[in-house]
Amino acid sequence: MKRKLVIVGASYAGLQIAASAREAGYDGDILLIGDEPDAPYQRPPLSKGFLTGGFGQERLPLRSQAYYDEMQIQWMPSTRAVRIDRERKELELHGGARIAYDHLALTTGARVRGLDCEGASHNAVHYLRDLRDAKRLVEHAQTARRAVVVGGGYIGLEAAASLRQKGLSVTVVESEPRVLARVASPSISAFMQRLHASRGVSFALGRKVVALHDMAGEVAVELDDGARLLCDLVVVGIGVVPNTELAAGCGLEVAGGIIVDAYARTSDASIVAAGDCAAFVPYWAPAGSAACRIESVQNANDMARTAAASVVGRVEPYRAVPWFWSDQYDQKLQMAGVSTGFSDFAVRGSVEEGKFSLFYFRDDTLVAVDSINRPQDHMLARKLLASGARLGIKEFNDPALDLKVFANRDVSVARDASS
Ligand code: ADP
Repeated sequence: MKRKLVIVGASYAGLQIAASAREAGYDGDILLIGDEPDAPYQRPPLSKGFLTGGFGQERLPLRSQAYYDEMQIQWMPSTRAVRIDRERKELELHGGARIAYDHLALTTGARVRGLDCEGASHNAVHYLRDLRDAKRLVEHAQTARRAVVVGGGYIGLEAAASLRQKGLSVTVVESEPRVLARVASPSISAFMQRLHASRGVSFALGRKVVALHDMAGEVAVELDDGARLLCDLVVVGIGVVPNTELAAGCGLEVAGGIIVDAYARTSDASIVAAGDCAAFVPYWAPAGSAACRIESVQNANDMARTAAASVVGRVEPYRAVPWFWSDQYDQKLQMAGVSTGFSDFAVRGSVEEGKFSLFYFRDDTLVAVDSINRPQDHMLARKLLASGARLGIKEFNDPALDLKVFANRDVSVARDASS
């Protein structure tokens, strides 16, 4: 009988597991189940081009139907899995149907964290996670004039930029004293805040929303200092919560995410997990560190490749360099590596001209690079980080250093060392 790989969650990680398993020679059935009505589609444009109108819905699908046919990947839309029976190796769907599996992949992603205050269910409140959210927001933004964005993370700032570009007035409310506090260094936070301010965005930093009051169609957003911001549109981007219920319900280890090892394997040998829902101890973290989740397209895709390798019986640890990007207005921010805990940094390029990169070091070892409008630096940074750059901060501070030469030399050194 044919083997069967069942994948729960039809977005980046789910589709990539299906694709990579097939490419690696998996000859059984592959079934991709998702609770959304649409075939897997790109999510980053939802808060950027799709919102401003420059990126049409027809460009969103990740793959055409012809691809699924050719790769023999069967996908089931609008289908919700509700329970895993590990003993019988069966997945139960909403409605009661059961599907037998040999391998199960959990790529269930994350859902938005809801605003928890009086008036939070007001009609003017929007979240941005899936296509339905984005379509509803696009429609409302056509007639809205004043927006309050709650949350100054990437989703909040990208939404702020997009709404500003559509001519709305925008105020960002962020509970931390700086934007992007969770995910970026203070220098990048400052740059992004200046960028938004220069485009007319107002900020209420270090402030929390305590209530939303209906004002005859408009909304007064009340902050914890008593201020009230009157608007007709609220976008909430205050983070996500991983969808771990299926895993927890069948006794898999869950701690802030579905716990997986370096091979994307859960504690059950026939179940892998990848993407936003999965938590792991990254290879760059000191031994004994807690497992964490990484919310990015790169992580979803690369971890999915690792998971697929495990499914086909190849053992390949997940060691990809994390990277991420955000487009806001006409500016491109790209990040490689993880700067958390950096002790020093070097700047290359021109901050005044808005074209620069920050190279972060921990104990004189390069750990991350953030680039603003310097895409070439970003690509080189990924190479340098992958090969374990042998350059210290002194060298990076030298404007004469040709990174390109070094990045390529370092890769060849690493290749020689491993052969
Ligand atoms: P996202 O992916 O939604 O951007 P992040 O966690 O990266 O998620 O960013 C969310 C931001 O929202 C964080 O900077 C966090 O400090 C902020 N935040 C969380 N809760 C609130 C709140 N109630 N009011 C304002 N800001 C909040």
